[in-house]
Amino acid sequence: MRKNTMCVQGGYEPKNGEPRVTPICQSTTYKYDSSETVGKLFDLEEDGFFYTRIANPTVDVVEKKIAMLEGGIGAMCTSSGQAASLISVMNICEAGDHMISTAAIYGGTMNLFSVTFKKFGIDVTFVDPDISAEDLQKEVKENTKLIFSETLSNPSLVVCDIEKFAKVAHANGIPLIVDNTFATPMLCRPFEFGADIVVHSTSKYLDGHATALGGVIVDSGNFNWDNGKFPGLSTPDESYHGMVYTRDCGKAAYITKARVQLMRDLGSTPAPQNAFYLNLGLETLHLRMERHSANALAVAKWLEKNENVSWVNYPGLESNKYNGLASKYLPAGTSGVIAFGVKGGREAAMKFMDSLKLAAIVVHVADARTSVLHPASTTHRQLTDEQLIAAGVSADLVRMSIGIEDLADILEDLEQAFACIK
Ligand SMILES: *Cc1c(COP(=O)(O)O)cnc(C)c1O
Repeated sequence: MRKNTMCVQGGYEPKNGEPRVTPICQSTTYKYDSSETVGKLFDLEEDGFFYTRIANPTVDVVEKKIAMLEGGIGAMCTSSGQAASLISVMNICEAGDHMISTAAIYGGTMNLFSVTFKKFGIDVTFVDPDISAEDLQKEVKENTKLIFSETLSNPSLVVCDIEKFAKVAHANGIPLIVDNTFATPMLCRPFEFGADIVVHSTSKYLDGHATALGGVIVDSGNFNWDNGKFPGLSTPDESYHGMVYTRDCGKAAYITKARVQLMRDLGSTPAPQNAFYLNLGLETLHLRMERHSANALAVAKWLEKNENVSWVNYPGLESNKYNGLASKYLPAGTSGVIAFGVKGGREAAMKFMDSLKLAAIVVHVADARTSVLHPASTTHRQLTDEQLIAAGVSADLVRMSIGIEDLADILEDLEQAFACIK
């Protein structure tokens, strides 16, 4: 199957007479004829479902589909993107460990890493995404367990040089984890450039309709966890009667541990109903990403020529700092998200947004409907103008998530809203 076909049919092969559409298995539990079978399921000696906190048939279909799309060997869905980021790190880091993350990451991930991880005893060094390989190497310590980055960062739209980060990570025997939320596997497959683990907030483009919160962790199966740096994977797990993940699960060591140990203990399980919505969204992912990217590029070019706009940040534009990296990593398009500045600062930006009719003001990005957010007056409103600049969010910044409506309607809406600020 090619990626376009995987979106539609991947992960589910109904047998004779079974439902054509992935059914919603709204059941927490599963019936067995003998207690011996249940024992074997617990020991992972047999495949099967026994409790929905660990696995569920509807969720399983989506996990298989996303693993195929990313080119990984296995995936685990979570109840939110935050839970995916949390578990992806906790699976290999514990108190006393250190990790490196680029500073250009989602605000929620930044809070998790800088505030909550500190309480867990995990120390995080944030680096400039444009850091050189030599300088990145200098940040690696004896207890560094991973490097974390975003393919296309939210909201700063930095394109990550995945190969650069992967090279340094591998030279030090540690994995690269990439948040691929904005790119999706339709625009970039980070495993092809050396990433070892991919995470997503499926609440964004993968679902694509703003219906269900969710996340996913995908394992490439390529990383060697048996190099002495990851005892959690290569020595017996006492909470799982002595299981050694690298010995007993081979290439699937990481993703199996995430499920049978951390999902078991933390319980941030997705609902089967939400997995059904996610699967429905995935069926059109290939079509949507094409249209999001084409619409956004056209809007970005239009904004660049508009007299009311002081600057436009969209990696698909030739004028953009990351256009070179975008051609390498995101050749099929750079998603629907654009940031730009409105002349006249905070007041003009707010007036402009309030005047939009088609584009709605929402605290969300990456769904089918065009939406808009003014971070300075919402998500970052507690900051002063000086602090906003330090955070890379200027007072005039408007973040637009271009939907899949007719381009002419989106442009007309922008035109009439700009007319209102004069
Ligand atoms: C939204 C988002 C998250 C968090 O996902 P939730 O589903 O909201 O928990 C993580 N990473 C990125 C890049 C995001 O955009």
